[in-house]
Amino acid sequence: MSQATLPRIGFHAPIAGGLQNALLKARSLNADAVQMFSRNPRGWVAKPLGLEEIERFRSVRAETGISPVVIHCNYLVNLAAADETIREKSRASFREEVERGLALGADYLVVHPGSARGACERDAIQTCAESLRVACRGLELNGFRILLENTAGQGECIGHRFEHLREIIERCPELHLGVCLDTAHAFTAGYDIRDEDGLTAAFESLERNVGLENVRAVHFNDSKADYNSRVDRHWHIGLGHIGSEALRRVASHRALSHAAFLLETPQDELGEDARNLEVLRSFIQKETA
Ligand SMILES: [Zn+2]
Ligand SMILES: [Zn+2]
Repeated sequence: MSQATLPRIGFHAPIAGGLQNALLKARSLNADAVQMFSRNPRGWVAKPLGLEEIERFRSVRAETGISPVVIHCNYLVNLAAADETIREKSRASFREEVERGLALGADYLVVHPGSARGACERDAIQTCAESLRVACRGLELNGFRILLENTAGQGECIGHRFEHLREIIERCPELHLGVCLDTAHAFTAGYDIRDEDGLTAAFESLERNVGLENVRAVHFNDSKADYNSRVDRHWHIGLGHIGSEALRRVASHRALSHAAFLLETPQDELGEDARNLEVLRSFIQKETA
């Protein structure tokens, strides 16, 4: 049997003590890929990256061979904000995120489309696209790609329908935006991926709207929140409402074998990442055994 392409797998790793520690943590658990923040995710102001910090990160990356390196944007950025002050701050902060990603030699930057907060969905989608274009103006992205993440649709968040992602992507052709599919968000937003038909329908919608080849990362999470609840609560693989069988089907599906699968499951206790990673690995290996 010919060797099928296997997805690269990893998890969201902490950056305490230095950005390179995310890479070292990933390697210690035998991961191929990593997701990380490039700064404190809960503050507007980030300390600029120093040359030494950049060099250290790049050399540890070369040594560990971790790839892709996915950066998750900080949580304050709201590219869809109707409020002008928040919007301007968000655009500046997002540009900084892109610049940091480029400096570090990362592959992807994942961002949530944002929240309408008072505006209608349609306006929020337009604002998000405009913000992306303004924030990236004049930057050479080369191979670095921004990935829009689908959301659970909590509150007034846009991005819970794949159609929203398509509209944003179509409005920014020069950016070649990709997509990050979060399984828990899709499920609570109303894509019932628990059975095979539901998964097929979700993949068809993804293909139709954004093209499966543009889904470069998968946030591989079970959900503590119910189907269609619009609540964002990640949970350990196999212990949530999506369940093992359904998640195995996602991980072993050929449609996404080119993507990096990244866990964002809770990390309250030691060993939880290792356990979830082993479960994910078993899902992928079983298919090709
Ligand atoms: Zn996210
Ligand atoms: Zn996610």
